Amino acid sequence: MTTTLITGANKGLGFETARRLVAAGHLVYLGSRNAERGRVAAEQLGARAVHLDVTDDASVRSAVEFIEAEGGLDVLINNAGIQVEMSPGAIVGAADVTAEMMRQTFETNVFGPVRVLHAFLPLLQRSTAAVVVNVSSALASLTRRSEAGTATHAYPGVAYPASKTALNAITVQYAKAFPDMRINAVEPGFTKTDLNGNTGAQTVERGAEVIVCMAHIGSDGPTGGYFDAEGPLPW
Ligand code: NAP
Repeated sequence: MTTTLITGANKGLGFETARRLVAAGHLVYLGSRNAERGRVAAEQLGARAVHLDVTDDASVRSAVEFIEAEGGLDVLINNAGIQVEMSPGAIVGAADVTAEMMRQTFETNVFGPVRVLHAFLPLLQRSTAAVVVNVSSALASLTRRSEAGTATHAYPGVAYPASKTALNAITVQYAKAFPDMRINAVEPGFTKTDLNGNTGAQTVERGAEVIVCMAHIGSDGPTGGYFDAEGPLPW
């Protein structure tokens, strides 16, 4: 049975991805920084709750010990993410971004996936079909952000897009370092979740599509790429 860990899976896209992968027959470890929210969500889906705060070394270490004791890990989905520049009704733009906002954002969206991936590498290296899915964003694309007239170009925030561009860079470097694994970044699309005050244009069912698809990528599939549900995206 394929074993899969999804970070930040107590709600939103992570929760929907967990639901789909449980239905597909995976043993899903549902990561949540809040133990109680994780327990309730996992119970609802028939997943295994794992207390995991991606910003906390000790919490990640104990998640590794727990999953290792249960047998190992094949698929890691780095989904947990925050958008601190989102304030009610508006996104904090370049004039108001602070180093502290950048630090907080990178702590979760960039250092988080690295912390989790680094800690789970020994388990993934033992898998015969290791897969890593980094949940990125269209806002990661420097090409798209530079194309006037698009929604991506119009996004005024600094911290969140920069963090996802860094995540894409990390994806490419890990993919080169571990050619036996499939390591890709995905853009779920603008999805109605708490991350954007539920202003997103599409459902979590649609948003989770590309995450689920990349979680199932076979050993002959792409690695080091950046995709949405339609195919490859420009960096
Ligand atoms: P969401 O509903 O706000 O879910 C985010 C999840 O991340 C929650 O479970 C949250 O836990 C968790 N999280 C935050 N900080 C964490 C930490 N330090 N440790 C562990 N978990 C943590 O947002 P979402 O839209 O589903 O976002 C999922 C991913 O999709 C993110 O990486 C986001 O950047 C990406 N994405 C979203 C959209 C969109 O339109 N929604 C578009 C492109 C990309 P709590 O419940 O404890 O806060």
